[in-house]
Amino acid sequence: MSETRELRKRKIVDTTNWVDIVNVGYGKFAAKKGDDNDGLQKCGADIWYLHPTKGWKHIFGETGQEAGHAEMHALVQFVGDICEFDVTKFNTILASATVKVEGKDVECGVLVECTAKPCCLFCSAMLGLLGIRPQDSDTKKSPVRMGGTQWVMHPALRDFIAAKTGYSVVELAKIDSHKL
Ligand SMILES: [Zn+2]
Repeated sequence: MSETRELRKRKIVDTTNWVDIVNVGYGKFAAKKGDDNDGLQKCGADIWYLHPTKGWKHIFGETGQEAGHAEMHALVQFVGDICEFDVTKFNTILASATVKVEGKDVECGVLVECTAKPCCLFCSAMLGLLGIRPQDSDTKKSPVRMGGTQWVMHPALRDFIAAKTGYSVVELAKIDSHKL
């Protein structure tokens, strides 16, 4: 999408509700479905990204940190520390590597690795909305809201996802209140 078209799109107040946002994001996250898991055990996840000069780097996230699930903890660090919450910086890194999927070039400069258990419904949705792909086939997704650890999203990450996708911050915030 061209930049002007993207900007124009963002100005439209998007009316998609949070359930549909989650479903769209979950569908976009290109991981295979894994076994369901109670989510009680702690787990770690890495966000991998292609650094412009240093090659592939990764940022580790842990369950139970201020950002809730491990994937979201890694993601908020990447989006904040590396991209400075700047959508253009994020998009540049995302587009810096591509992979062929069904004959088409797909951006894959940002990847997630979470092999201990499948990414839950909400983590998968947020990763999918941002265009982040699984790092390998052992990173799977689950359509279940794993409830062992409360799912929360850092407000700055929420604002970033709204800016990147055009979805409403108000609707994105409703996902937080649907913890088990
Ligand atoms: Zn999760």
